[in-house]
Amino acid sequence: MKIKIMKFGGTSLSDPEKIRLAAGHAAGEKKKGFSVVLVLSAPGQVTDELLELARRINPSPKARELDALLSTGESLSAALAAMALEAEGHRAVSISGAQAGILTDSAFSNASVLDINPKRIISELKKGKIAVVAGFQGITRSGDITTLGRGGSDLTAVALAAALKAEICELYSDVKGIYTANPALVSSARKLPRVSYEEVMAMAEAGTEVRQLRAVVYAKKHKIPLVLRSSFDSEPGTWVGDFKHTGKSPEVTAPPASLQKTDIQFEASGGVRCLSIRKHEKSAEITLIGSKLNNRKIKKAVLSAALTNGCRLTRAAYFPGKAVLLTDTQHGEKLLKVLHKVFIGC
Ligand code: ASP
Ligand code: MG
Repeated sequence: MKIKIMKFGGTSLSDPEKIRLAAGHAAGEKKKGFSVVLVLSAPGQVTDELLELARRINPSPKARELDALLSTGESLSAALAAMALEAEGHRAVSISGAQAGILTDSAFSNASVLDINPKRIISELKKGKIAVVAGFQGITRSGDITTLGRGGSDLTAVALAAALKAEICELYSDVKGIYTANPALVSSARKLPRVSYEEVMAMAEAGTEVRQLRAVVYAKKHKIPLVLRSSFDSEPGTWVGDFKHTGKSPEVTAPPASLQKTDIQFEASGGVRCLSIRKHEKSAEITLIGSKLNNRKIKKAVLSAALTNGCRLTRAAYFPGKAVLLTDTQHGEKLLKVLHKVFIGC
């Protein structure tokens, strides 16, 4: 069985049309010969709405009850998507976290995955069905429902990918991938074809959390190749993998050779891959992410870019994988654009 995990976030499931679209993507991959496990988040803002609802009933609810409530958002998506698939003549079955065998500790609202027993999923896949798993949910040894922290459906997807030895784990959202900078701030920002787990973790540290951090750490540990892509666009997304160590990803999941070449060249020379910005009360913090960044050439380029553009650097700290720069709040975005031009070339 060639298993593919396809996870859809809340913005990809916020109305019936979008749920049908996600179901359609899954059916398409099934037709190509994959055994498909669909992992779904709660539709739209449902998790936040449930939290608000709970607050109105009881300002300090028991953690156990809160998890029992929050998990329903994902159950909703899974049942609806299974219905959407059946409506189009595909065979599908919705599966809860407990039915998927996702065993967790009892740290309600932020539980850790202890073990996975995916035998129900495997038996459904063998029957030729699409398994539609409710993300974010787990179950304790004593049978209580838990949730895996905000954004936890990412962790469900990655953990199932590891347990099922999936070929690939695709994470769909409303963004097309990881960019060299936030395109809302830097209009020339480019989508990156590939990034490493470490780079995604560095982005999270710098305040740009593109995926649930725990899920990325889990993926790195189990060497699960991830693809971040949009539900609403057929462009290939961004690959996240262990590129640094192996120089290539597993055969079935390998991106086009031309991309690998670019990346290998990049690894050889080092440099800035992407930039992120975070605003504090009295300063703006820009982080350059990449490799071999603590060298004279990079430091000189940063200094001269800041000087010639009238941006005062109040602090600059260089490490191999990142450089953290502080400037005045009003110069933050300008410096971000200038440094993007210097290091990314546009
Ligand atoms: N619905 C949950 C959240 O909003 C889990 C997820 O979306 O992955 O955090
Ligand atoms: Mg959500």
